[in-house]
Amino acid sequence: MALIVQKFGGTSVGTVERIEQVADKVKRFHEAGDEIVVVVSAMSGETNRLIGLAKQIMEQPDPRELDVMVSTGEQVTIGLLAMALLKRGVQAVSYTGSQVRILTDSAHTKARIQQIDDARIRADLKARKVVVVAGFQGVDEQGNITTLGRGGSDTTGVALAAALKADECQIYTDVDGVYTTDPRVVPQAQRLDKITFEEMLEMASLGSKVLQIRSVEFAGKYNVPLRVLHSFQEGPGTLITLDEEESMEQPIISGIAFNRDEAKLTIRGVPDTPGVAFKILGPISAANIEVDMIVQNVAHDNTTDFTFTVHRNDYQSALEILKRTGVEIGARESVGDTKIAKVSIVGVGMRSHAGVASQMFEALAKESINIQMISTSEIKVSVVIEEKYLELAVRALHTAFELDAPARGAE
Ligand code: ADP
Ligand code: ASP
Ligand code: MG
Repeated sequence: MALIVQKFGGTSVGTVERIEQVADKVKRFHEAGDEIVVVVSAMSGETNRLIGLAKQIMEQPDPRELDVMVSTGEQVTIGLLAMALLKRGVQAVSYTGSQVRILTDSAHTKARIQQIDDARIRADLKARKVVVVAGFQGVDEQGNITTLGRGGSDTTGVALAAALKADECQIYTDVDGVYTTDPRVVPQAQRLDKITFEEMLEMASLGSKVLQIRSVEFAGKYNVPLRVLHSFQEGPGTLITLDEEESMEQPIISGIAFNRDEAKLTIRGVPDTPGVAFKILGPISAANIEVDMIVQNVAHDNTTDFTFTVHRNDYQSALEILKRTGVEIGARESVGDTKIAKVSIVGVGMRSHAGVASQMFEALAKESINIQMISTSEIKVSVVIEEKYLELAVRALHTAFELDAPARGAE
């Protein structure tokens, strides 16, 4: 008998029919003798719909009130799934985040889980009940409803699995595992049997939204066995593991991630004096804007150009701040560009291979794609390119690093 936490995403509970199918699946596991905690997202599109409603009233919705209403999406699906289980003769009970007491900090819309009270769930499991918990939500010390950021139900699932010391956390979704890159963009992408936490964390941070970043952090920290699977197709899915394969066949690159979430800002003709980076980025960070990639050009004529990227949501405010700074420090001009994309190659195999970055640059050069910025770490290389070349770049890299699935019938 195992204790399993199963999380079902938005499309998997997107209609009443699908909720009934999920109930059939949960019932099968329960009948086999496992203890089951199910975490569900809101029906697909519902969270967006709720945010849209809020924005009709306030362009920048009040965060506390936004959490109050946006968390209702998950409250609907827990009730429906519990009913579908009861209808099938399975004892089930649903809980909101605050009923469980998933305690978070008070950072509305991006709260972090601090503690989970497992007493109620354990008692229910002992009584052979299936426990259905609302994903994405918690409650702070003062009793305010909080939410965990988009995609946060993954984190609820993993955090519950950690708190209950579950044997496995299964993330059920609309793809049958983690792929070498988003299979909706590259049809030749291949499912990975395994990926390390470290690689998955990079993939998620660099734009692969198949798992929320924090869920991977949590799983790594508490060593929760984590598997991504298709909700309605049988298969082994992808296991996220601690160990790196020592086999010779370890590919250099495990996956390619990309995002269109960033924007680029450049300040030109800055007098090149010590402290200039701080003068430019100090006011940006004081405004709570996170900076991702940074490039400072070699100076000539005693001036320098300085470029960095921020999240697109912060673009307008960052540009205004930069323009003010530019006037103060006597820069020539401050400009921005939102039509950029970031493409990254990720793999622990990179540690033992030189020349991976140049192989990446060569593949992009062959497609005449200009690289605007570069950043590297031990297990990833990221480049910023013009947004319109994003898909071409991802496909070219996928082929160059030999990640393409063999053509059907070619074997
Ligand atoms: P859910 O609603 O179940 O949480 P998501 O939409 O959040 O589902 O995540 C699943 C989606 O992630 C897939 O439909 C796929 O398009 C996308 N995705 C992006 N990168 C990858 C990847 N490397 N492997 C698998 N899916 C990916
Ligand atoms: N419903 C939330 C969202 O759409 C949380 C989730 O699905 O994980 O972001
Ligand atoms: Mg998701």
